[in-house]
Amino acid sequence: MNPPAISRRHLLHTAIAGVAGTPAVLRAEDSPKGTSFHEDARDLPLVTDVDVIVCGAGPAGIAAAITAARAGAKVRVFEWRGCLGGVWTAGLLGYLLDFDKPGFNQELLKRLDERDMRRGTSKGSICYEPEGMKLLLEELFVEAGVKFQLHTRVSAAYREGKRLTTIVTESKSGRQAWRAPVFIDTTGDGDLGALAGCAFEFGESDSCPCQPMSLNALLVCKDAASLASYIHGSDPSKADGLAKDALLAEIQRTGHFPSYSKPTLWQVRDNLLLVMMNHQYGVPCFDAAKITEATVQARAEMHKIVNGLRKLGGPWEGLQIAATAEQIGVRDGRRIKGRYVVNKEDVIAGARYDDAVVRATFSVDIHALSAEHNKTAAYHNAGIKTKPYDIPLRALIAKDVDGLMMAGRNISGDFIAHASYRVTGNSVAMGEAAGVTAALAALSKRLPHEVPWSEGSAKLAQIRKPV
Ligand SMILES: Cc1cc2nc3c(=O)[nH]c(=O)nc-3n(C[C@H](O)[C@H](O)[C@H](O)COP(=O)(O)OP(=O)(O)OC[C@H]3O[C@@H](n4cnc5c(N)ncnc54)[C@H](O)[C@@H]3O)c2cc1C
Repeated sequence: MNPPAISRRHLLHTAIAGVAGTPAVLRAEDSPKGTSFHEDARDLPLVTDVDVIVCGAGPAGIAAAITAARAGAKVRVFEWRGCLGGVWTAGLLGYLLDFDKPGFNQELLKRLDERDMRRGTSKGSICYEPEGMKLLLEELFVEAGVKFQLHTRVSAAYREGKRLTTIVTESKSGRQAWRAPVFIDTTGDGDLGALAGCAFEFGESDSCPCQPMSLNALLVCKDAASLASYIHGSDPSKADGLAKDALLAEIQRTGHFPSYSKPTLWQVRDNLLLVMMNHQYGVPCFDAAKITEATVQARAEMHKIVNGLRKLGGPWEGLQIAATAEQIGVRDGRRIKGRYVVNKEDVIAGARYDDAVVRATFSVDIHALSAEHNKTAAYHNAGIKTKPYDIPLRALIAKDVDGLMMAGRNISGDFIAHASYRVTGNSVAMGEAAGVTAALAALSKRLPHEVPWSEGSAKLAQIRKPV
């Protein structure tokens, strides 16, 4: 199957590209008209001690780094937040979807079970404890010998010709430069791909009808049993949409209509609950001012709802927010253009590829693109019935820049396909594939697109931990 042509509109996002040694980051139109500040060039400390650099430690980056290390590569990871895990931890996700897959997905479930941190019996939809996940991931990194630096943001990328050679990070240690033969962009938002000059798409179109952001929170209650009819089970085969509708009715009783009309409560453990009940519309993942505004509004709405529920009394008595997420959840980021674009037709036809790294099964899940849509449908599937479909390795390899792979929600795909593969079970599987391919490429002095997937999958079979 051939990739669909990427529209001219989307190709507008190609950053300044092609000049060796030029940071492909700031576009003239990004500066307010007529104003600019000249920053002097300076020498930075340069470190060249690893084979693979992974940027971003969410579900995809975790799997990529651990897998590359197990495949024999020296690996370094940079993560902007103060913990590993991305949406799993800083985003307080609490729920794993499309997780019934072999490899690191199963290993992680086993590790969660060993620590009694998983709830529910479903194979594909699992509730877990976000705080325990932070510790588990750190231990897994240490065990695999992955070098990692938290509180560190990837902020520039430099190429020699088409090849990405060096990145620059910013942190309390200042600006630092890092070089490696292969890089993996697992920033979720596609920061590295964009910095390196790759073309990308985001949302449904340029004006950002993109999927809304949501700020999750942990709540404590007096007695979870008395809230049972409002708590979503972890088995999707059960008709527990009823719990969401019941919770919506309770929130409406407080005099508020939530910006997410399918508010969802999960039980993490005992009297600890997790909640998702807000949407922030039209916020591009690369606009810090709008993300700030969205975060502030979302946090205010969460407090308003929880305070309102507590005032209802009865089973809600004593309900309070234990913590809102450090990071508002971003559904739609940049989708970096790869050597293949996973597309709507793949999802409809149930595409099969020789270089398949994962078979995605999750439905097309498009959350309301505006407050108006939310009143009629909190989410929809665009009328598409998903047939389990393959994601090929080519969608994880950048087209415009050599030595760069992607994994997770920023791989190469269209709006519809992304709305299906974007959940964490697929991100983990993609991370594994990118990790093993990057390691094989770096250790044999090849580029990722020169490593056949037959080699990568054979190596994966050797290094996966038995579960
Ligand atoms: C509100 C919400 C609800 C969702 N519900 C579910 C669900 O129930 N189950 C499910 O499985 N999936 C769910 N998803 C989808 C899930 O978020 C994605 O599958 C997941 O985020 C993909 O993982 P990732 O590793 O690609 O990205 P992320 O989890 O976003 O990880 C990216 C990491 O990169 C870091 N980073 C970003 N930029 C930089 C930079 N420049 N430098 C250094 N580090 C950087 C970030 O801090 C983060 O840690 C939901 C998403 C949202 C937003």
